[in-house]
Amino acid sequence: MQRSISAFVQDEVSDWVACLDCGHRQHVRHHPPLVSRPWVTSAEGRNAKLGARLECIRCNRFEMPDGFAGYKRTPVLTELTVPSGLRRDHSTASGVWAKIQVLEGQLRYRVDELRLDVVLTATQRGIVVPEVRHSVEPEGAVRFFVEFYRAPPNRPI
Ligand SMILES: [Zn+2]
Repeated sequence: MQRSISAFVQDEVSDWVACLDCGHRQHVRHHPPLVSRPWVTSAEGRNAKLGARLECIRCNRFEMPDGFAGYKRTPVLTELTVPSGLRRDHSTASGVWAKIQVLEGQLRYRVDELRLDVVLTATQRGIVVPEVRHSVEPEGAVRFFVEFYRAPPNRPI
């Protein structure tokens, strides 16, 4: 899926890396003649690319970015207390990932945009991708919670 460039950083060998608003990072190297991105070598060129979009395969694969930390979680929910908003399509904010952890029972998890339709259990947890619409539906008796993750402050490269 397409993600916006929010910043640029350099890796340990000074190659440029685009920081995407999902929390993933992607090299944007300028190594002519193999890879030609002369714009990345100047501050003006990089600034002009802020907000530009790149395809993020790691979002398509439900891979939470490295180093993200849990910062809040819902109470334990059941088939009787699951808020109706979770049963309809909804999404997290930019940069906010989540894990759906089932404690007992089964919970259907649907993400139409990424073509996912699975039944979560205590051993099969769900990953929620920022800004991607999704819904859950209890399949009988279930207990589960959702934990939210974001980038830690001063995240290292
Ligand atoms: Zn991503």
